[in-house]
Amino acid sequence: MISSLHRPTKAKITLDAVSQNIKAVMEHIPSNPKVWAVVKANAYGHGAIAVSHHIESQVDGFCVSNVDEAIELRQAGIKKSILVLGVVLPEEIYLAKDYHLSLTIASMDWYVLAKELGTSLKGLVCHIKVDSGMGRIGVRSQSEAEQLITSLESDGAIVEGIFTHFATADEADESQFNQQLSFFKTLIAGLEKCPPLVHASNSATSIWHAETVFNAVRLGVVIYGLNPSGYTLAMPYALTPALSLESALVHVKEVPAGVAIGYGGTYHSEQAEIIGTLPIGYADGWTRDMQDFKVLVDGQFCQIVGRVSMDQVTIRLPKRYPLGTRVTLIGENGQESLSATDVADKRGTINYEVLCLLSDRVPREYD
Ligand SMILES: *Cc1c(COP(=O)(O)O)cnc(C)c1O
Repeated sequence: MISSLHRPTKAKITLDAVSQNIKAVMEHIPSNPKVWAVVKANAYGHGAIAVSHHIESQVDGFCVSNVDEAIELRQAGIKKSILVLGVVLPEEIYLAKDYHLSLTIASMDWYVLAKELGTSLKGLVCHIKVDSGMGRIGVRSQSEAEQLITSLESDGAIVEGIFTHFATADEADESQFNQQLSFFKTLIAGLEKCPPLVHASNSATSIWHAETVFNAVRLGVVIYGLNPSGYTLAMPYALTPALSLESALVHVKEVPAGVAIGYGGTYHSEQAEIIGTLPIGYADGWTRDMQDFKVLVDGQFCQIVGRVSMDQVTIRLPKRYPLGTRVTLIGENGQESLSATDVADKRGTINYEVLCLLSDRVPREYD
């Protein structure tokens, strides 16, 4: 989808907020681990290239979810290490070598397939993934980890790291977290030769289990200034959200009582009302379930009335405002603010998804 520059809808990103958030998290970790910024999914909607350039000197490397995201960064001139967190099938290994990427290796089956395909693993930099209880990818026993490391090394691959991922680090109940941690620790301790980089900490772990960090952390949502638990666990220190979403009034009208607004006529004005229209809709990631939610105009909350369409949203205004009046959908406006977490709560989802769903049609503007 083309980025639509000639309308007042945009995501504004403060890159310095990302730097400040990384600093804040690292200051609260008692050890001194390596820092990898997780910039998958276009840096959670913030723009992977812009974010990565801005923080490259501050971090030790980057994590992405697939090879294409990694290549995007290399082509943009990013030089630091890039770890691909998802499984890359053996036929794509040549890309990892061409672009100097580190790959996640998650099973002996993968290794066997690579051998069957006759793929050379020489010089491939890899991290072994351990499934300590997340249940997605990774080896589930120490013997498989051991066998994988030995096999990869015998083929000339460089096993640089070993890692796992927690499923519940953002929850108040720590039982699964503790089980996963002890499984991973035991597995590591029993390895004949442990790879140099050991990492297990996502944002939530780095915040609420900072004492468990191994020698590297993978920081995702927290660097964008959001609480990984939503409103479940309180942040022990302040973060600054890096993204705000803004639009503007492009149409304002007064309607008498009883007038239908939007597809399906799901809303009828209750009395004489001022209705404003914004050029944003579900094709921008402002999903249909935002009906009845609110936006900010002139420091006041205004309700979204009627259906959210593909390209437009209608709101009820307290008075007539001029065309072009700024409207905030995420961020601050006057004394009030709306966060991605507020939006997520209304949708019954998590703030991550709200940001990732902002589509390419919304231009990203940086300061
Ligand atoms: C996405 C991801 C992260 C980052 O998660 P946050 O909760 O955003 O910090 C870290 N590790 C892995 C394996 C991931 O997939």
